[in-house]
This record gives sequence, structure tokens and C-alpha cells, in this order.
Amino acid sequence: MDAALVASVTRRAHAACEYCQLPQAVSSIPFEIDHIIAQKHGGPTVLENLGLACFYCNSHKGPNIAGIDPESGRIVRLYHPRKDRWNKHFHWDGPVLVGLSAVGRATLAVLVINHPDAVTLRASLIDEGLFPPTEPALRHPPRLP
Ligand SMILES: [Zn+2]
Repeated sequence: MDAALVASVTRRAHAACEYCQLPQAVSSIPFEIDHIIAQKHGGPTVLENLGLACFYCNSHKGPNIAGIDPESGRIVRLYHPRKDRWNKHFHWDGPVLVGLSAVGRATLAVLVINHPDAVTLRASLIDEGLFPPTEPALRHPPRLP
């Protein structure tokens, strides 16, 4: 993928996963560029269809564009970082991410965002004052090369 496009996606995301908000700076595994609508479903490689995702979120998401809301059992689309507002679908309860909507709950399930290892990592980042990054990251966007 074009380096300038990767840099634009990363900058726009304030170098944090657009699903679980993990900052790239604290991850030992490089973040990935996610096709929000997967290429196999016709999603193009353009800024509006790309998002920054941590390795874990992107691995679980794969080509999925929908999931099952565990509350209603209904099939719903996944969270779309370009079209949806994160705060409308998700809420932090300490290190645990809570789904506020069917879309949020289905996304949590498909991306396994509350995997015990992820919750443990977030708990230690909270202790270190490094998480959640949203507001500081938006106030002080990281400088990118
Ligand atoms: Zn993530």
C-alpha cells in the first residue's frame, strides 16, 4: 500500500486502533491498515474505506462486515470508523469495553475486543496513565514522520 496513504490513515487515527483505541506506541506488534469494507466485498483502497487497527482487532475482523448482537441475536453490521461515532457505540468501563448499541456489541464480539489478555493489558496501561488515549491523543496528536 502507498506509504503516503498509510501515513494519512495513521495520522487521522491519532496512531491508535480505531476499534479498541490501543495506542500504536504501546504495541510491540505493528498496526495494520484495515479495509473497513473488505476488498472481497468490493471495498476499495481509498482513505474513506481505510482505518487503523491493531493486529488483534484486524486479525479477528478479517473480511467480516457483520456480526451477531449477543443481546438480540440479530445480524447487524460492524462498527464503521468513518461513518459511525465511536462514543455512540462504545463506552469504557475501566479496561472493559462496553457495547452501547447492537453495532457496538456485535463488533465487540467479532473482534474479541474484551479478550482477557487485552483487558489485562489495558488495566496495566490505565495504571500507567497511558489509557484510554482518546482525549489526550486528540489534544496532542502524535507527530508522524
Ligand atoms: Zn484494536
